[in-house]
Amino acid sequence: MNTIVLPPDYHSHSLLCKHAEGRPIDYARAARAAGLTEMACTEHVPVPEPFDPEHRMDFEEFSVYLDWVDEARSVEGIDVLLGIEADYYDGCEHFLSAWLPEQDFDYVLGSVHYNGYDRDQQHALTGVFDPNDIEGCWTEYFRRIRLLADSGLYDAAAHLDLPKKFGARPAPDYMESLVKPALDHLARANMAMEINTSGWIHDVREQYPSLQILTWARERDIPITFGSDSHVPQRMGADFGRATRLAAEAGYTERAEFRKRKRTMVPLIAVPDSTKESAE
Ligand SMILES: [Zn+2]
Ligand SMILES: [Zn+2]
Repeated sequence: MNTIVLPPDYHSHSLLCKHAEGRPIDYARAARAAGLTEMACTEHVPVPEPFDPEHRMDFEEFSVYLDWVDEARSVEGIDVLLGIEADYYDGCEHFLSAWLPEQDFDYVLGSVHYNGYDRDQQHALTGVFDPNDIEGCWTEYFRRIRLLADSGLYDAAAHLDLPKKFGARPAPDYMESLVKPALDHLARANMAMEINTSGWIHDVREQYPSLQILTWARERDIPITFGSDSHVPQRMGADFGRATRLAAEAGYTERAEFRKRKRTMVPLIAVPDSTKESAE
């Protein structure tokens, strides 16, 4: 019997996004089995325009998502929140500023997965990982993170230093010159930020964001949540013990919870031993 209560897992996907497995109920069962008592489904947002359609549910499938999250709520011992991972992209406000508030979301996670997107050219997406232009990728990415914060659309920022996914990073001074202003914008927007444990299974082998960035976020009183970014049910809560210890190391004593997009703060318990950690 697992007596240690891990923080809620506020980042999970499902087969609806075309690159993950299982339904929300499978994630809820797996989360419960991992000792969690709360989670959020945060499927990639459907949009009514051709923005990266390969990685999100079709717009007409949103009602299926709502039904599936309801179905997941039948799992005993765990609260299942309705969330969404909503991409920030150039021009997204046209749709998201009206649509997000109309839904019954508990938690809206904001993320940037691509640089350029032109609403008139659906294949104009640019990756954030070009090894031949690391500074350019990071600069454009963090410019969008500032815009994401300024948009006022979101409760929390996802995987903040995502461009490091394959291991490429700019020099520390350059990185600092991009990240600190982005954190200032998040703080001004009263947004939280997640510790995303999926980085430990990506090439970079480090959570998002780095301990350095977490420490800068703590200095700005940016609240934290925890997310596995699970694309398979068995990843729910993965490395959460380790993530809580990192948060404590960065100086955090509290973490954020959300209901109906209202934030409350609860004490952070740094878990001494996680039962579920990825191999280093
Ligand atoms: Zn994401
Ligand atoms: Zn995600």
